[in-house]
Amino acid sequence: MSTIGLREFHPFEAAGRRYLYLVPSAAVFALDDCSAAIVESLGHGPRSVDDVAEDLASRFDRTEITDTIAELQRVRALGETAVKPAPLPKIVPLKPVPLQTLVVNVTNQCNLSCTYCYEYGEDKIVDTENGQQPKFMTEETAREAVEFALRESRENPRAHITFFGGETLMNFPVLKATIGYARRRAAEAGKEIDFSLTTNATLLRPDVIEFLAEERVGVTISIDGPEDLQNKFRVFNNGTGSYAIAAPKIKALLARHRSRPIGARVTLTRQTLDVRRIYQHLTDELGFWEVGFAPVTTAPGRDYAISDGGFDHLLDQFRALAADYLDASLHNRHHGFSNVRETLQEIHHGHAKAYPCGAGLGLMGVSTDGRVALCHRFAGSDDHGFGTLKDGVSWERQQQFLDTHHVSNKTDCQTCWARPICAGGCYHEAHTRYGSTNRPNLHYCEWIRGWTHTCLEIYGELAERNPGFLRQFDDEEVPEKVS
Ligand code: SF4
Ligand code: SF4
Repeated sequence: MSTIGLREFHPFEAAGRRYLYLVPSAAVFALDDCSAAIVESLGHGPRSVDDVAEDLASRFDRTEITDTIAELQRVRALGETAVKPAPLPKIVPLKPVPLQTLVVNVTNQCNLSCTYCYEYGEDKIVDTENGQQPKFMTEETAREAVEFALRESRENPRAHITFFGGETLMNFPVLKATIGYARRRAAEAGKEIDFSLTTNATLLRPDVIEFLAEERVGVTISIDGPEDLQNKFRVFNNGTGSYAIAAPKIKALLARHRSRPIGARVTLTRQTLDVRRIYQHLTDELGFWEVGFAPVTTAPGRDYAISDGGFDHLLDQFRALAADYLDASLHNRHHGFSNVRETLQEIHHGHAKAYPCGAGLGLMGVSTDGRVALCHRFAGSDDHGFGTLKDGVSWERQQQFLDTHHVSNKTDCQTCWARPICAGGCYHEAHTRYGSTNRPNLHYCEWIRGWTHTCLEIYGELAERNPGFLRQFDDEEVPEKVS
């Protein structure tokens, strides 16, 4: 007689209910009493259907048990042990994917000298200081970027350009002229075009703020929190902290630019792990709508690198802030912890990722001289390039990248329940840490799994206690994240 056994899932509980996160399909499955009892009865190993039915006969009738087993097999939570689960499928796109976001590095210069910066720090990939690249993108190159974004967005009705740096606003004249040009060209092409930028806020003059508000440009501000934390790493060349200059300009921007939510992006280091305090300062005192946190990207051993113990501490801090997010969301109040919102959105969409992010797929980065690469962090690196704005990108190179970076190539990830969300993690982080973009980021697996588990619990709580809250994610397109 054939036996059945548990397949690949991650169990969690929320609102007094048991759930399974089904790994191959990235779906969340709520267990009723009978399905929970079946999963439990198979917890010590495979058994025959008859044995399971006999075990549970005092609680459920046989038809309910066999129907539930069939349902659990259908969703691949259970499987016949005689049938080996299929290996991870490797499905690589056969034709170019429409570009969703083009990240345009309008300058590689910066008026700050943040110690941990991947562009200037010890872990840089492209030597923008001493290399051949122009310091500022010309208007002509920026126009070529617009043409590229419109062309490569293919059948998509919308194109998106994100301006990046260095400090983006050091090349404000080109940025301004490019937005005007892009709007004209998009209208001619019958497409919508949308813009965003990331800035350290220190160059937000009144005319710049006026322009960004008028043009509805999405803005993300890189800031690390209250004055003592911001000034630890985010400093000018002479070592002076940037908070006193940035804070009033941020307030002026937030007061004027109200057409789009403005977010803060915080880099967390070993010395600045006070997540709740940072969040409260940035929302309550400065007025940001959303705050997203990212651990610093660095080789191990730098004094600002987060250690293993630091990641445990970080997880505790994230969990505390996530509890606030849940409480607010249960009462339909806004909470701006964007790391939770983004993960809930991914869980809700139930898309099992083959790649960790859109880099090289729906997202590419352009260097100041018009070379197109994997993403903005690799812009200008020939080893990670796909072509140029002028000559176009090589689909063969892109496809080769997608082939070698598929999650099915990452042995450790093949058995990891968090892979639908993580898929091995950021290529830039892997390159910095291990010297190769196709290595999984094994140094933060526990952190990723712990955080994903927390977000699943929050998702389950909301699904049970305020399901209407999750409807906001129904139609929402998942934007390519630029960090
Ligand atoms: S990098 Fe780690 S957490 Fe991420 S999918 Fe791979 S094994 Fe899982
Ligand atoms: S996650 Fe990493 S590789 Fe992906 S777009 Fe962001 S920086 Fe680039």
